[in-house]
Amino acid sequence: MSRILIIEDEVAIAELEKDYLELSDFEVMIESSGDVGLSRALKEEFDLIILDLMLPGTDGFEICRQVREIKNIPILMVSAKREDIDKIRGLGLGADDYITKPFSPSELVARVKAHLASYQRLVGTDTHRNEWVEIRGIKIDKTARRVYINGVEKSFTTKEFDLLCFLAQNPNRVFSKEELFREIWEMESVGDIATVTVHIKKIREKIEVDTANPQYIETIWGVGYRFKV
Ligand code: CA
Repeated sequence: MSRILIIEDEVAIAELEKDYLELSDFEVMIESSGDVGLSRALKEEFDLIILDLMLPGTDGFEICRQVREIKNIPILMVSAKREDIDKIRGLGLGADDYITKPFSPSELVARVKAHLASYQRLVGTDTHRNEWVEIRGIKIDKTARRVYINGVEKSFTTKEFDLLCFLAQNPNRVFSKEELFREIWEMESVGDIATVTVHIKKIREKIEVDTANPQYIETIWGVGYRFKV
């Protein structure tokens, strides 16, 4: 059963969301304070978060940012104002979807299901067995989402990890920026292909000895990138 955390200070809305989600067999928890919601989102295992933007204590922007630093689970942001949606996009916080109040509960449920299905395809459903990808000095623990470079652990953001993992799992294949963007940022309506370049640069800073002469992720001029074996 998928566990969902709703962080929402309007009790009536939170309860309505919960009722509909429970009808679809989800296990649902509600937190009405931003601070407590954030701490639960960081510490506990959830499969998806429905996040209200304006909250007492830590607001939805900050919660989204902090959760994204360490977790890849889908985040659906909820706001009463259309302008907020543009702001979320502009900030590039990594929310997976946005919904404006008032919304129909069945639409919310449909979106939750779609995001969970997509996320489960990406991470796989078997969370017990550690899956490793190993190429030369790089070891990637896909289950724990940890990366070791010559035995030393380096920290990666969610998207950096997804991108590195995807390239390392498809070595010697050239991918265009467009393909990589579609693959890694599929569910998001934010960002553009320049994001790919930025992420590749950050990954290289972590995995390459000399970023000017990359040994792992090669730039294929005019085409895209390739992970060398
Ligand atoms: Ca609110």
